[in-house]
Amino acid sequence: MDDLPYSRLVECYEAMVKTSKRTELTDALVSLYGRTPAELLGKMTYLNQGKLYPDYMGVEVGVGEKLAERAISTATGLGIQTIRELYRKLGDMGSAAEEAAKSRRQESLFREELTVSAVYDTLDRMAKSSGKGSVEARLDLLAGLMGSASPTEAKYIVRTALGKLRLGVADYTVLDALAITFAGGKEARADLERAYNLCSDLGEVAKAVARAGLKSIRSFKISVGRPVRPMLAERLSSAREIVEKLGGECSAEYKYDGERMQVHKDGGVVTIFSRRLEKITGNYPDAVKLVGSSVGARRAILECEAVAVDPGSGDLLPFQQLMHRRRKHGVQEAAARIPISLFFFDILMHEGKDMTVRPYSERRLRLESAVAEGEGIRLAPALRTASPDAIEGFMQRAIEVGCEGLVVKDLKSRYRAGARAFSWIKLKREYRSELTDSTDLVIVGAFHGRGRRAGVYGAYLLAAYDKPDDTFRSVTKVGTGFSDEDLAGLSRRLDGYRMAHPSPRLVSKMQADVWFQPAVVIEVVASELTLSPIHTAALDRIRPGAGLALRFPKFTGKVREDKSPEDATTVEELVGMYGAQLKKIG
Ligand code: AMP
Repeated sequence: MDDLPYSRLVECYEAMVKTSKRTELTDALVSLYGRTPAELLGKMTYLNQGKLYPDYMGVEVGVGEKLAERAISTATGLGIQTIRELYRKLGDMGSAAEEAAKSRRQESLFREELTVSAVYDTLDRMAKSSGKGSVEARLDLLAGLMGSASPTEAKYIVRTALGKLRLGVADYTVLDALAITFAGGKEARADLERAYNLCSDLGEVAKAVARAGLKSIRSFKISVGRPVRPMLAERLSSAREIVEKLGGECSAEYKYDGERMQVHKDGGVVTIFSRRLEKITGNYPDAVKLVGSSVGARRAILECEAVAVDPGSGDLLPFQQLMHRRRKHGVQEAAARIPISLFFFDILMHEGKDMTVRPYSERRLRLESAVAEGEGIRLAPALRTASPDAIEGFMQRAIEVGCEGLVVKDLKSRYRAGARAFSWIKLKREYRSELTDSTDLVIVGAFHGRGRRAGVYGAYLLAAYDKPDDTFRSVTKVGTGFSDEDLAGLSRRLDGYRMAHPSPRLVSKMQADVWFQPAVVIEVVASELTLSPIHTAALDRIRPGAGLALRFPKFTGKVREDKSPEDATTVEELVGMYGAQLKKIG
Protein backbone atom coordinates (compact mmCIF):
# COMPACT_ATOMS: atom_id res chain seq x y z
CA MET A 1 0.00 0.00 0.00
CA ASP A 2 1.18 3.50 -0.81
CA ASP A 3 1.96 5.52 2.24
CA LEU A 4 3.05 9.01 3.16
CA PRO A 5 5.78 9.92 5.63
CA TYR A 6 4.22 11.41 8.77
CA SER A 7 6.89 14.12 8.52
CA ARG A 8 5.13 15.49 5.40
CA LEU A 9 1.91 15.84 7.31
CA VAL A 10 3.71 17.51 10.18
CA GLU A 11 5.45 20.01 7.88
CA CYS A 12 2.04 21.00 6.69
CA TYR A 13 0.72 21.28 10.26
CA GLU A 14 3.60 23.59 11.12
CA ALA A 15 2.52 25.90 8.34
CA MET A 16 -1.12 25.65 9.33
CA VAL A 17 -0.68 26.58 12.99
CA LYS A 18 0.97 29.81 11.88
CA THR A 19 -2.05 31.09 10.02
CA SER A 20 -5.64 31.85 10.82
CA LYS A 21 -6.51 32.71 7.23
CA ARG A 22 -9.02 30.33 5.81
CA THR A 23 -7.54 30.58 2.30
CA GLU A 24 -4.09 29.62 3.54
CA LEU A 25 -5.47 26.67 5.47
CA THR A 26 -7.31 25.60 2.35
CA ASP A 27 -4.16 25.91 0.21
CA ALA A 28 -2.20 23.81 2.68
CA LEU A 29 -4.87 21.12 2.60
CA VAL A 30 -5.03 21.20 -1.20
CA SER A 31 -1.33 20.57 -1.48
CA LEU A 32 -1.59 17.79 1.07
CA TYR A 33 -4.50 16.10 -0.67
CA GLY A 34 -2.59 16.35 -3.97
CA ARG A 35 0.14 14.14 -2.53
CA THR A 36 -2.00 11.71 -0.60
CA PRO A 37 -2.41 8.15 -1.89
CA ALA A 38 -6.05 7.14 -2.36
CA GLU A 39 -6.02 4.57 0.46
CA LEU A 40 -4.99 7.23 2.95
CA LEU A 41 -7.56 9.90 2.11
CA GLY A 42 -10.06 8.92 4.76
CA LYS A 43 -7.55 8.48 7.56
CA MET A 44 -5.81 11.73 6.73
CA THR A 45 -9.04 13.67 6.64
CA TYR A 46 -9.87 12.55 10.16
CA LEU A 47 -6.32 13.11 11.43
CA ASN A 48 -6.25 16.70 10.17
CA GLN A 49 -9.23 17.42 12.39
CA GLY A 50 -7.62 15.65 15.32
CA LYS A 51 -9.90 12.61 15.07
CA LEU A 52 -9.78 8.99 13.99
CA TYR A 53 -13.39 8.62 12.88
CA PRO A 54 -16.37 10.81 12.10
CA ASP A 55 -17.82 12.37 15.25
CA TYR A 56 -20.95 10.26 15.28
CA MET A 57 -18.86 7.16 16.02
CA GLY A 58 -17.90 8.75 19.34
CA VAL A 59 -14.37 7.29 19.33
CA GLU A 60 -11.64 8.87 21.44
CA VAL A 61 -8.02 7.78 21.72
CA GLY A 62 -8.41 7.62 25.47
CA VAL A 63 -5.21 9.32 26.55
CA GLY A 64 -5.22 11.81 29.40
CA GLU A 65 -2.47 14.13 30.59
CA LYS A 66 -1.13 11.73 33.21
CA LEU A 67 -0.72 8.97 30.68
CA ALA A 68 0.91 11.35 28.20
CA GLU A 69 3.46 12.43 30.82
CA ARG A 70 4.37 8.85 31.54
CA ALA A 71 4.69 8.02 27.85
CA ILE A 72 6.94 11.02 27.24
CA SER A 73 9.05 10.02 30.21
CA THR A 74 9.36 6.42 29.01
CA ALA A 75 10.25 7.49 25.48
CA THR A 76 12.82 10.15 26.43
CA GLY A 77 14.28 8.85 29.65
CA LEU A 78 13.49 12.14 31.42
CA GLY A 79 11.86 12.07 34.83
CA ILE A 80 8.16 12.83 35.32
CA GLN A 81 9.01 15.96 37.33
CA THR A 82 11.08 17.39 34.47
CA ILE A 83 8.21 16.80 32.08
CA ARG A 84 5.72 18.44 34.41
CA GLU A 85 7.99 21.48 34.60
CA LEU A 86 8.19 21.66 30.84
CA TYR A 87 4.44 21.41 30.67
CA ARG A 88 3.99 24.16 33.23
CA LYS A 89 6.44 26.38 31.39
CA LEU A 90 5.02 25.79 27.90
CA GLY A 91 1.37 25.32 28.76
CA ASP A 92 0.89 22.55 26.22
CA MET A 93 1.68 18.87 26.53
CA GLY A 94 2.61 18.60 22.83
CA SER A 95 5.27 21.30 23.18
CA ALA A 96 6.50 19.61 26.37
CA ALA A 97 6.89 16.38 24.38
CA GLU A 98 8.78 18.25 21.66
CA GLU A 99 11.22 19.80 24.15
CA ALA A 100 11.66 16.53 25.96
CA ALA A 101 12.40 14.73 22.70
CA LYS A 102 14.97 17.38 21.76
CA SER A 103 16.88 16.81 24.95
CA ARG A 104 16.76 13.06 24.58
CA ARG A 105 20.30 12.07 25.34
CA GLN A 106 20.74 9.79 22.42
CA GLU A 107 18.98 10.11 19.12
CA SER A 108 18.59 6.53 17.97
CA LEU A 109 20.65 6.04 14.84
CA PHE A 110 18.33 3.76 13.02
CA ARG A 111 15.10 5.52 13.73
CA GLU A 112 12.47 4.09 11.46
CA GLU A 113 10.61 6.69 9.46
CA LEU A 114 7.05 7.07 10.73
CA THR A 115 4.31 6.88 8.15
CA VAL A 116 0.82 8.36 8.31
CA SER A 117 -0.77 4.94 8.43
CA ALA A 118 1.58 3.73 11.16
CA VAL A 119 0.62 6.72 13.30
CA TYR A 120 -3.07 6.36 12.55
CA ASP A 121 -3.14 2.62 13.13
CA THR A 122 -1.29 2.89 16.43
CA LEU A 123 -3.64 5.60 17.69
CA ASP A 124 -6.52 3.43 16.53
CA ARG A 125 -5.21 0.47 18.52
CA MET A 126 -5.00 2.74 21.53
CA ALA A 127 -8.60 3.81 21.04
CA LYS A 128 -9.74 0.21 20.73
CA SER A 129 -7.89 -1.18 23.72
CA SER A 130 -10.26 -1.63 26.61
CA GLY A 131 -10.65 -3.46 29.87
CA LYS A 132 -7.97 -4.70 32.21
CA GLY A 133 -4.46 -3.70 31.26
CA SER A 134 -5.65 -1.22 28.66
CA VAL A 135 -3.97 1.75 30.35
CA GLU A 136 -0.60 0.02 30.22
CA ALA A 137 -1.28 -1.04 26.65
CA ARG A 138 -1.99 2.55 25.62
CA LEU A 139 1.10 3.72 27.46
CA ASP A 140 3.31 1.24 25.59
CA LEU A 141 1.81 2.13 22.24
CA LEU A 142 2.19 5.88 22.75
CA ALA A 143 5.74 5.58 24.13
CA GLY A 144 6.60 3.33 21.18
CA LEU A 145 5.32 5.87 18.67
CA MET A 146 7.25 8.66 20.35
CA GLY A 147 10.36 6.54 20.36
CA SER A 148 10.30 6.63 16.57
CA ALA A 149 9.23 10.25 16.27
CA SER A 150 11.25 13.39 15.63
CA PRO A 151 10.66 16.17 18.18
CA THR A 152 8.19 17.94 15.90
CA GLU A 153 6.37 14.70 15.14
CA ALA A 154 6.22 13.94 18.88
CA LYS A 155 4.49 17.27 19.44
CA TYR A 156 1.65 16.48 17.04
CA ILE A 157 1.33 12.86 18.07
CA VAL A 158 0.82 13.89 21.69
CA ARG A 159 -1.68 16.61 20.76
CA THR A 160 -3.64 14.18 18.61
CA ALA A 161 -3.63 11.49 21.29
CA LEU A 162 -4.95 13.99 23.83
CA GLY A 163 -7.67 15.13 21.43
CA LYS A 164 -6.13 18.61 21.28
CA LEU A 165 -4.73 18.97 17.78
CA ARG A 166 -6.70 22.14 17.10
CA LEU A 167 -5.38 23.19 13.71
CA GLY A 168 -8.57 25.10 13.12
CA VAL A 169 -9.56 22.98 10.12
CA ALA A 170 -13.31 23.44 9.99
CA ASP A 171 -15.61 21.17 8.00
CA TYR A 172 -16.18 23.80 5.34
CA THR A 173 -12.42 24.27 4.87
CA VAL A 174 -12.04 20.56 4.18
CA LEU A 175 -14.95 20.70 1.72
CA ASP A 176 -13.35 23.63 -0.11
CA ALA A 177 -10.04 21.79 -0.32
CA LEU A 178 -11.70 18.63 -1.63
CA ALA A 179 -13.63 20.62 -4.24
CA ILE A 180 -10.46 22.27 -5.48
CA THR A 181 -8.33 19.12 -5.46
CA PHE A 182 -10.74 16.56 -6.86
CA ALA A 183 -13.77 18.26 -8.38
CA GLY A 184 -12.37 20.98 -10.57
CA GLY A 185 -12.76 23.97 -8.28
CA LYS A 186 -14.58 25.66 -5.48
CA GLU A 187 -17.86 25.71 -7.42
CA ALA A 188 -18.25 22.03 -6.64
CA ARG A 189 -18.37 22.82 -2.96
CA ALA A 190 -22.19 22.82 -2.80
CA ASP A 191 -22.36 19.29 -4.19
CA LEU A 192 -19.77 18.10 -1.73
CA GLU A 193 -21.58 19.79 1.10
CA ARG A 194 -24.78 18.03 0.15
CA ALA A 195 -22.98 14.68 0.25
CA TYR A 196 -21.53 15.57 3.64
CA ASN A 197 -24.97 16.49 4.96
CA LEU A 198 -26.23 13.11 3.87
CA CYS A 199 -23.53 11.06 5.61
CA SER A 200 -21.91 13.30 8.27
CA ASP A 201 -18.57 11.75 7.36
CA LEU A 202 -15.90 13.91 5.69
CA GLY A 203 -13.57 10.93 5.22
CA GLU A 204 -16.27 9.18 3.23
CA VAL A 205 -16.84 12.25 1.07
CA ALA A 206 -13.08 12.56 0.44
CA LYS A 207 -12.83 8.97 -0.70
CA ALA A 208 -15.91 9.20 -2.89
CA VAL A 209 -14.89 12.36 -4.73
CA ALA A 210 -11.31 11.17 -5.21
CA ARG A 211 -12.49 7.84 -6.56
CA ALA A 212 -15.12 8.95 -9.03
CA GLY A 213 -15.21 12.73 -9.12
CA LEU A 214 -18.08 15.15 -9.10
CA LYS A 215 -20.48 12.86 -10.87
CA SER A 216 -20.43 10.30 -8.11
CA ILE A 217 -20.86 13.04 -5.54
CA ARG A 218 -23.95 14.34 -7.29
CA SER A 219 -25.56 10.94 -7.03
CA PHE A 220 -24.42 10.40 -3.45
CA LYS A 221 -27.00 8.43 -1.47
CA ILE A 222 -27.84 8.23 2.17
CA SER A 223 -27.19 4.94 3.90
CA VAL A 224 -28.45 3.18 6.99
CA GLY A 225 -26.06 3.55 9.91
CA ARG A 226 -24.66 6.92 8.86
CA PRO A 227 -26.60 9.81 10.37
CA VAL A 228 -28.10 12.42 8.08
CA ARG A 229 -27.57 15.97 9.27
CA PRO A 230 -31.01 17.11 10.39
CA MET A 231 -33.23 19.53 8.53
CA LEU A 232 -34.03 22.55 10.69
CA ALA A 233 -36.87 25.03 10.87
CA GLU A 234 -37.04 28.78 10.37
CA ARG A 235 -39.46 30.83 12.41
CA LEU A 236 -42.27 33.32 11.74
CA SER A 237 -44.61 34.87 14.23
CA SER A 238 -48.05 34.41 12.70
CA ALA A 239 -50.00 31.82 10.78
CA ARG A 240 -50.83 34.44 8.15
CA GLU A 241 -47.17 35.17 7.44
CA ILE A 242 -46.47 31.47 7.18
CA VAL A 243 -49.25 30.79 4.69
CA GLU A 244 -48.06 33.73 2.61
CA LYS A 245 -44.46 32.55 2.71
CA LEU A 246 -45.41 29.02 1.67
CA GLY A 247 -47.74 30.29 -1.04
CA GLY A 248 -51.01 28.72 0.08
CA GLU A 249 -51.74 25.17 1.14
CA CYS A 250 -49.25 23.71 3.58
CA SER A 251 -49.10 21.08 6.29
CA ALA A 252 -49.16 22.11 9.94
CA GLU A 253 -47.79 19.54 12.37
CA TYR A 254 -47.76 19.46 16.15
CA LYS A 255 -44.34 20.47 17.45
CA TYR A 256 -43.52 18.14 20.30
CA ASP A 257 -41.16 19.23 23.01
CA GLY A 258 -38.90 16.28 23.67
CA GLU A 259 -35.74 14.85 22.19
CA ARG A 260 -35.31 14.58 18.45
CA MET A 261 -34.32 11.12 17.26
CA GLN A 262 -33.08 9.89 13.94
CA VAL A 263 -33.86 6.21 13.89
CA HIS A 264 -31.92 3.85 11.62
CA LYS A 265 -33.29 0.37 11.17
CA ASP A 266 -31.21 -2.25 9.45
CA GLY A 267 -32.89 -5.62 9.72
CA GLY A 268 -33.04 -6.34 13.44
CA VAL A 269 -30.56 -3.62 14.36
CA VAL A 270 -31.89 -0.25 15.48
CA THR A 271 -29.54 2.70 15.96
CA ILE A 272 -30.69 6.04 17.32
CA PHE A 273 -28.89 9.34 16.75
CA SER A 274 -29.55 12.57 18.60
CA ARG A 275 -30.05 15.91 16.92
CA ARG A 276 -26.30 16.48 17.36
CA LEU A 277 -25.67 13.07 15.80
CA GLU A 278 -24.44 11.32 18.90
CA LYS A 279 -25.43 7.69 19.25
CA ILE A 280 -28.04 7.55 22.00
CA THR A 281 -29.30 4.03 21.37
CA GLY A 282 -28.18 2.93 24.84
CA ASN A 283 -30.21 5.64 26.57
CA TYR A 284 -33.46 4.55 24.99
CA PRO A 285 -33.90 0.76 25.18
CA ASP A 286 -37.67 1.39 25.16
CA ALA A 287 -37.49 3.38 21.92
CA VAL A 288 -35.52 0.57 20.29
CA LYS A 289 -38.26 -1.86 21.26
CA LEU A 290 -41.05 0.42 20.03
CA VAL A 291 -39.34 0.86 16.66
CA GLY A 292 -38.78 -2.87 16.36
CA SER A 293 -42.47 -3.54 16.82
CA SER A 294 -43.96 -0.70 14.77
CA VAL A 295 -41.69 -0.18 11.78
CA GLY A 296 -42.16 -3.05 9.39
CA ALA A 297 -39.54 -2.02 6.81
CA ARG A 298 -36.24 -3.87 6.90
CA ARG A 299 -34.14 -0.85 5.98
CA ALA A 300 -35.39 2.56 6.94
CA ILE A 301 -34.39 5.91 8.39
CA LEU A 302 -37.08 7.85 10.21
CA GLU A 303 -37.29 10.90 12.40
CA CYS A 304 -39.36 11.33 15.50
CA GLU A 305 -39.57 13.28 18.70
CA ALA A 306 -39.44 11.26 21.93
CA VAL A 307 -41.61 12.72 24.67
CA ALA A 308 -41.90 11.72 28.34
CA VAL A 309 -45.35 10.47 29.27
CA ASP A 310 -47.16 10.14 32.59
CA PRO A 311 -47.36 6.37 33.09
CA GLY A 312 -50.87 6.41 34.47
CA SER A 313 -52.78 8.98 32.48
CA GLY A 314 -50.77 9.00 29.28
CA ASP A 315 -50.43 12.82 29.54
CA LEU A 316 -47.37 14.34 27.89
CA LEU A 317 -44.86 15.70 30.39
CA PRO A 318 -42.60 18.74 30.06
CA PHE A 319 -39.25 18.27 28.33
CA GLN A 320 -37.20 18.35 31.57
CA GLN A 321 -38.56 14.92 32.44
CA LEU A 322 -36.32 13.41 29.77
CA MET A 323 -33.12 14.71 31.30
CA HIS A 324 -32.58 11.58 33.37
CA ARG A 325 -32.06 9.69 30.10
CA ARG A 326 -28.79 11.49 29.64
CA ARG A 327 -27.23 9.69 32.58
CA LYS A 328 -24.87 6.77 32.19
CA HIS A 329 -26.51 4.56 34.82
CA GLY A 330 -30.01 3.66 35.78
CA VAL A 331 -31.45 4.07 32.30
CA GLN A 332 -33.55 0.91 32.52
CA GLU A 333 -35.00 2.04 35.81
CA ALA A 334 -35.68 5.54 34.43
CA ALA A 335 -37.36 4.04 31.38
CA ALA A 336 -39.66 2.03 33.62
CA ARG A 337 -40.49 5.03 35.82
CA ILE A 338 -41.11 7.56 33.05
CA PRO A 339 -41.99 5.96 29.75
CA ILE A 340 -41.83 7.76 26.42
CA SER A 341 -43.96 8.06 23.34
CA LEU A 342 -42.46 8.48 19.90
CA PHE A 343 -44.08 10.94 17.51
CA PHE A 344 -42.86 10.35 13.97
CA PHE A 345 -42.68 13.24 11.55
CA ASP A 346 -40.44 12.25 8.64
CA ILE A 347 -39.01 9.37 6.66
CA LEU A 348 -35.64 9.69 4.94
CA MET A 349 -35.22 6.18 3.63
CA HIS A 350 -37.67 3.37 3.09
CA GLU A 351 -36.66 -0.16 2.08
CA GLY A 352 -33.37 1.22 0.83
CA LYS A 353 -35.06 3.95 -1.24
CA ASP A 354 -33.70 7.45 -0.69
CA MET A 355 -36.75 9.51 0.25
CA THR A 356 -34.87 12.75 0.96
CA VAL A 357 -35.22 13.74 -2.69
CA ARG A 358 -39.01 13.26 -2.65
CA PRO A 359 -41.43 16.09 -1.74
CA TYR A 360 -42.89 16.36 1.78
CA SER A 361 -46.37 15.28 0.69
CA GLU A 362 -45.01 12.02 -0.69
CA ARG A 363 -42.80 11.43 2.34
CA ARG A 364 -45.74 11.94 4.66
CA LEU A 365 -47.81 9.33 2.81
CA ARG A 366 -44.89 6.95 2.92
CA LEU A 367 -44.46 7.62 6.64
CA GLU A 368 -48.12 6.82 7.22
CA SER A 369 -47.71 3.46 5.54
CA ALA A 370 -44.36 2.66 7.18
CA VAL A 371 -45.28 3.25 10.83
CA ALA A 372 -47.95 1.21 12.58
CA GLU A 373 -49.46 3.45 15.25
CA GLY A 374 -50.02 1.89 18.66
CA GLU A 375 -49.23 2.28 22.34
CA GLY A 376 -46.29 4.69 22.52
CA ILE A 377 -46.10 5.18 18.75
CA ARG A 378 -47.87 7.95 16.88
CA LEU A 379 -47.45 10.14 13.86
CA ALA A 380 -47.30 13.85 14.59
CA PRO A 381 -50.85 15.04 13.80
CA ALA A 382 -50.87 17.03 10.56
CA LEU A 383 -53.41 19.43 9.10
CA ARG A 384 -53.37 20.35 5.43
CA THR A 385 -54.82 23.77 4.97
CA ALA A 386 -54.36 27.20 3.44
CA SER A 387 -56.31 28.94 6.20
CA PRO A 388 -54.42 30.93 8.85
CA ASP A 389 -57.41 30.63 11.18
CA ALA A 390 -57.41 26.86 10.90
CA ILE A 391 -53.70 26.88 11.71
CA GLU A 392 -54.26 29.08 14.78
CA GLY A 393 -56.97 26.72 16.05
CA PHE A 394 -54.75 23.71 15.44
CA MET A 395 -51.98 25.42 17.35
CA GLN A 396 -54.17 25.96 20.41
CA ARG A 397 -54.97 22.27 20.49
CA ALA A 398 -51.30 21.45 20.17
CA ILE A 399 -50.39 23.70 23.10
CA GLU A 400 -53.08 22.22 25.24
CA VAL A 401 -51.90 18.64 24.83
CA GLY A 402 -48.40 19.74 25.86
CA CYS A 403 -46.77 20.70 22.55
CA GLU A 404 -44.67 23.79 22.00
CA GLY A 405 -46.55 24.97 18.95
CA LEU A 406 -46.45 23.89 15.32
CA VAL A 407 -43.99 23.22 12.54
CA VAL A 408 -45.62 24.21 9.26
CA LYS A 409 -44.20 22.48 6.22
CA ASP A 410 -43.94 23.20 2.51
CA LEU A 411 -45.74 20.39 0.69
CA LYS A 412 -43.30 20.46 -2.20
CA SER A 413 -40.03 20.60 -0.35
CA ARG A 414 -37.53 17.76 -0.33
CA TYR A 415 -35.71 16.86 2.91
CA ARG A 416 -32.95 19.43 3.05
CA ALA A 417 -30.30 17.80 5.20
CA GLY A 418 -28.36 20.19 7.39
CA ALA A 419 -30.31 23.24 6.22
CA ARG A 420 -32.33 25.76 8.18
CA ALA A 421 -34.78 27.04 5.63
CA PHE A 422 -38.31 28.29 5.13
CA SER A 423 -39.46 24.85 4.02
CA TRP A 424 -40.20 24.16 7.68
CA ILE A 425 -41.47 27.08 9.69
CA LYS A 426 -41.95 27.12 13.45
CA LEU A 427 -44.95 28.79 14.96
CA LYS A 428 -44.75 29.25 18.69
CA ARG A 429 -46.98 31.26 20.95
CA GLU A 430 -46.30 34.91 21.41
CA TYR A 431 -47.80 35.08 24.87
CA ARG A 432 -47.71 32.94 27.91
CA SER A 433 -49.75 33.22 31.07
CA GLU A 434 -48.07 31.52 33.98
CA LEU A 435 -50.32 30.07 36.61
CA THR A 436 -48.86 30.67 40.06
CA ASP A 437 -51.92 29.94 42.21
CA SER A 438 -53.56 26.60 42.64
CA THR A 439 -57.17 26.18 41.51
CA ASP A 440 -60.08 24.27 43.03
CA LEU A 441 -62.05 22.55 40.32
CA VAL A 442 -65.11 20.33 40.12
CA ILE A 443 -64.96 16.77 38.82
CA VAL A 444 -67.65 16.47 36.13
CA GLY A 445 -66.49 13.45 34.13
CA ALA A 446 -63.91 10.68 33.96
CA PHE A 447 -61.92 8.63 31.48
CA HIS A 448 -61.15 4.94 31.85
CA GLY A 449 -57.59 4.20 32.91
CA ARG A 450 -55.10 2.26 30.85
CA GLY A 451 -51.97 0.31 31.62
CA ARG A 452 -51.33 0.46 35.36
CA ARG A 453 -54.65 2.21 35.84
CA ALA A 454 -56.90 -0.27 34.09
CA GLY A 455 -59.99 -0.80 36.25
CA VAL A 456 -60.03 2.67 37.81
CA TYR A 457 -60.50 6.08 36.24
CA GLY A 458 -57.23 7.26 34.73
CA ALA A 459 -58.11 10.92 34.30
CA TYR A 460 -60.85 13.37 35.19
CA LEU A 461 -62.62 16.15 33.36
CA LEU A 462 -62.63 19.28 35.51
CA ALA A 463 -64.77 22.40 35.42
CA ALA A 464 -64.82 25.91 36.87
CA TYR A 465 -67.98 27.52 38.20
CA ASP A 466 -69.66 30.15 36.05
CA LYS A 467 -71.58 32.21 38.58
CA PRO A 468 -73.75 34.46 36.37
CA ASP A 469 -74.90 31.40 34.45
CA ASP A 470 -74.91 28.97 37.36
CA THR A 471 -73.17 26.44 35.11
CA PHE A 472 -69.93 24.49 35.17
CA ARG A 473 -67.54 24.96 32.29
CA SER A 474 -64.75 22.56 31.43
CA VAL A 475 -61.12 23.72 31.78
CA THR A 476 -58.90 20.65 31.69
CA LYS A 477 -58.43 16.93 31.77
CA VAL A 478 -56.10 15.87 34.58
CA GLY A 479 -54.41 12.51 35.05
CA THR A 480 -51.15 13.43 36.75
CA GLY A 481 -50.35 13.63 40.46
CA PHE A 482 -52.71 10.87 41.65
CA SER A 483 -51.41 8.03 43.79
CA ASP A 484 -53.07 4.63 43.41
CA GLU A 485 -54.87 5.25 46.72
CA ASP A 486 -56.11 8.65 45.50
CA LEU A 487 -57.59 7.04 42.42
CA ALA A 488 -59.24 4.21 44.29
CA GLY A 489 -60.67 6.60 46.89
CA LEU A 490 -61.98 9.04 44.32
CA SER A 491 -63.56 6.25 42.25
CA ARG A 492 -65.46 5.02 45.29
CA ARG A 493 -66.59 8.47 46.30
CA LEU A 494 -67.71 9.45 42.81
CA ASP A 495 -69.80 6.33 42.31
CA GLY A 496 -72.60 7.98 44.27
CA TYR A 497 -72.71 10.87 41.77
CA ARG A 498 -72.71 8.95 38.50
CA MET A 499 -75.13 10.12 35.81
CA ALA A 500 -76.14 8.51 32.54
CA HIS A 501 -75.54 11.78 30.68
CA PRO A 502 -73.71 15.07 31.28
CA SER A 503 -75.18 17.18 34.03
CA PRO A 504 -77.63 19.77 32.65
CA ARG A 505 -75.53 22.38 34.44
CA LEU A 506 -72.38 21.32 32.57
CA VAL A 507 -71.16 23.09 29.42
CA SER A 508 -68.57 20.84 27.75
CA LYS A 509 -67.45 20.11 24.22
CA MET A 510 -65.27 17.28 25.43
CA GLN A 511 -66.73 13.80 25.63
CA ALA A 512 -65.92 11.87 28.81
CA ASP A 513 -66.41 8.11 29.27
CA VAL A 514 -68.40 8.62 32.45
CA TRP A 515 -70.36 11.65 33.75
CA PHE A 516 -70.88 12.92 37.29
CA GLN A 517 -73.13 15.35 38.99
CA PRO A 518 -70.94 18.33 40.03
CA ALA A 519 -70.10 17.57 43.67
CA VAL A 520 -66.45 16.74 44.34
CA VAL A 521 -63.87 19.54 44.29
CA ILE A 522 -60.13 18.89 44.03
CA GLU A 523 -57.08 21.13 44.13
CA VAL A 524 -54.99 21.33 40.97
CA VAL A 525 -51.84 23.23 39.97
CA ALA A 526 -50.74 23.83 36.39
CA SER A 527 -47.90 25.49 34.51
CA GLU A 528 -50.09 28.04 32.76
CA LEU A 529 -53.45 29.06 31.42
CA THR A 530 -53.83 28.77 27.66
CA LEU A 531 -56.42 29.49 25.03
CA SER A 532 -58.19 26.34 23.98
CA PRO A 533 -60.63 25.43 21.20
CA ILE A 534 -61.81 22.45 23.26
CA HIS A 535 -62.66 23.87 26.66
CA THR A 536 -65.62 26.09 27.41
CA ALA A 537 -64.56 28.20 30.39
CA ALA A 538 -64.57 31.85 29.25
CA LEU A 539 -65.49 30.73 25.74
CA ASP A 540 -65.33 33.66 23.30
CA ARG A 541 -64.32 36.02 26.07
CA ILE A 542 -60.65 36.42 25.08
CA ARG A 543 -60.64 35.13 21.53
CA PRO A 544 -63.59 34.02 19.36
CA GLY A 545 -63.90 30.25 19.37
CA ALA A 546 -61.49 29.76 22.25
CA GLY A 547 -61.94 29.11 25.94
CA LEU A 548 -59.38 28.88 28.74
CA ALA A 549 -57.57 25.71 29.73
CA LEU A 550 -54.92 24.58 32.19
CA ARG A 551 -51.67 23.33 30.69
CA PHE A 552 -49.73 20.50 32.38
CA PRO A 553 -52.29 20.20 35.20
CA LYS A 554 -51.44 18.17 38.29
CA PHE A 555 -53.53 17.03 41.27
CA THR A 556 -51.96 18.30 44.51
CA GLY A 557 -53.33 15.44 46.63
CA LYS A 558 -56.02 17.58 48.25
CA VAL A 559 -59.71 16.83 47.94
CA ARG A 560 -61.48 20.01 49.02
CA GLU A 561 -64.02 18.45 51.39
CA ASP A 562 -64.71 21.93 52.70
CA LYS A 563 -65.89 23.25 49.34
CA SER A 564 -69.19 22.84 47.59
CA PRO A 565 -69.08 22.95 43.77
CA GLU A 566 -70.29 26.54 43.86
CA ASP A 567 -67.22 27.41 45.93
CA ALA A 568 -64.89 26.20 43.21
CA THR A 569 -62.63 28.60 41.27
CA THR A 570 -64.86 30.68 39.04
CA VAL A 571 -64.57 31.46 35.35
CA GLU A 572 -64.27 35.12 36.33
CA GLU A 573 -61.27 34.35 38.50
CA LEU A 574 -59.59 32.41 35.71
CA VAL A 575 -60.05 35.31 33.31
CA GLY A 576 -58.46 37.57 35.94
CA MET A 577 -55.50 35.21 36.42
CA TYR A 578 -55.00 34.92 32.67
CA GLY A 579 -54.83 38.69 32.21
CA ALA A 580 -52.69 39.33 35.28
CA GLN A 581 -49.93 36.95 34.22
CA LEU A 582 -49.98 37.43 30.45
CA LYS A 583 -46.44 38.07 29.22
CA LYS A 584 -44.82 38.24 25.83
CA ILE A 585 -42.50 35.28 25.20
CA GLY A 586 -38.87 35.88 24.36
P1 AMP B 1 -36.05 24.12 16.82
O1 AMP B 1 -35.15 23.13 17.52
O2 AMP B 1 -36.65 25.15 17.71
O3 AMP B 1 -35.41 24.65 15.56
O4 AMP B 1 -37.31 23.32 16.30
C1 AMP B 1 -37.18 22.23 15.50
C2 AMP B 1 -37.25 20.99 16.34
O5 AMP B 1 -38.60 20.68 16.66
C3 AMP B 1 -36.76 19.77 15.62
O6 AMP B 1 -35.37 19.66 15.73
C4 AMP B 1 -37.48 18.65 16.32
O7 AMP B 1 -36.69 18.21 17.41
C5 AMP B 1 -38.70 19.30 16.92
N1 AMP B 1 -39.98 18.81 16.38
C6 AMP B 1 -41.04 18.43 17.12
N2 AMP B 1 -42.08 18.08 16.36
C7 AMP B 1 -41.69 18.24 15.07
C8 AMP B 1 -42.34 18.05 13.82
N3 AMP B 1 -43.61 17.64 13.72
N4 AMP B 1 -41.62 18.31 12.69
C9 AMP B 1 -40.34 18.74 12.77
N5 AMP B 1 -39.68 18.94 13.93
C10 AMP B 1 -40.34 18.70 15.08
